[in-house]
Amino acid sequence: MTLTAREILDRLVAFPTVSRDSNLDLIDWVEEYLASHGVAARRVYDATGRKAALYANAGPEVEGGVVLSGHTDVVPVDGQNWSFDPFAVTEANGRLYGRGTCDMKGFDAIALAMVPHALAIGVTRPLQIALSYDEEVGCIGAPPMIDDMLRHLPRAAAAIIGEPSMLRPVTGHNASTITDIHVHGYEVHSSKLPEGVSAIHEAGRVLQWVNDHNAECRAATPDPISATFDPPHATTHVGTIQGGTAHNITAKDCTFKLGFRVPAGDDVARHEAALDAFLTQLDGQLRARHPEAGVTWSRNLGVPGLRPETDGVAEALIRQLTGDNGTHVVTYGTEAGQFQDRGYSAVVCGPGDIAQAHQPDEWIATEQFQRGEALMRRVVETLV
Ligand SMILES: [Zn+2]
Repeated sequence: MTLTAREILDRLVAFPTVSRDSNLDLIDWVEEYLASHGVAARRVYDATGRKAALYANAGPEVEGGVVLSGHTDVVPVDGQNWSFDPFAVTEANGRLYGRGTCDMKGFDAIALAMVPHALAIGVTRPLQIALSYDEEVGCIGAPPMIDDMLRHLPRAAAAIIGEPSMLRPVTGHNASTITDIHVHGYEVHSSKLPEGVSAIHEAGRVLQWVNDHNAECRAATPDPISATFDPPHATTHVGTIQGGTAHNITAKDCTFKLGFRVPAGDDVARHEAALDAFLTQLDGQLRARHPEAGVTWSRNLGVPGLRPETDGVAEALIRQLTGDNGTHVVTYGTEAGQFQDRGYSAVVCGPGDIAQAHQPDEWIATEQFQRGEALMRRVVETLV
């Protein structure tokens, strides 16, 4: 199956791989495409068996190759006003419209198109392809995929995570974690307020902690790495809150998610520890007022930050090929931190602008797509 990157993009966008749905039709297609070039792929399934990551090695099985990594899932189109079919590529006004064209099936298509190129020019170090699932719901799919790659493939010298960066080398991004907080109160009629515990009022103390913590972080002098981020400090945010049943009943429950975003020079664990200390103290105070009151909380695994590397192979490769020596860091998370966490030299570099990701009428400029392909072609040519 000899297809251009543009033709592969048509196929990939046609699979509606919204994160909540299966991606196996897309994975089947990719596996068949790779097999048609004599390249075997491995799958790493999720617990439900409805989704899988896929990776492959093109060229000799030796160390020192390059991984081109992308995710196969896309965000939903529900409630968005599209003027085009989101699950087809429409070319108009110098743009390629369609869900995922920018984030990030455009890069996936380019990566897959590089496989026959790598084989044709006889690379002596491998081109490795890594396609994950569930990136858009918290970068869940990549860690088990990378762990499996490390068991079955020689380690590559560089991992390029092709999230839209306008082909700039992005060498740092934030870490993030989410804490689910449940404040338990004690219900009484509000005329008996002193006998009750309002979960909402007590949650207010946590929100005040958030405000205080943000002010503290903003006032502190940033470390040199964090200083390159915008903003140059950690931020703490609560986006939604639920609680209470009536205006005259002290709330029994109040629940919310608290998110930390922490620049790569900082340590997410220290913010978590500060929150945990505050919640532990509040929990003790509430229990003392009523045995049913208190605070419980749990935390997701989070997404590790990407730290700028000293003499990083991945960064050097992209800088050498693009001539871009600027400092580029972003405040969103990617799978690059997960590759780096597992010992890969990693950089984020892909075509398109993150501003178009997740939008109705998502698009990538045709010119960016073509430049992305040209850049990845040169990446592959360094493997000869
Ligand atoms: Zn993405």
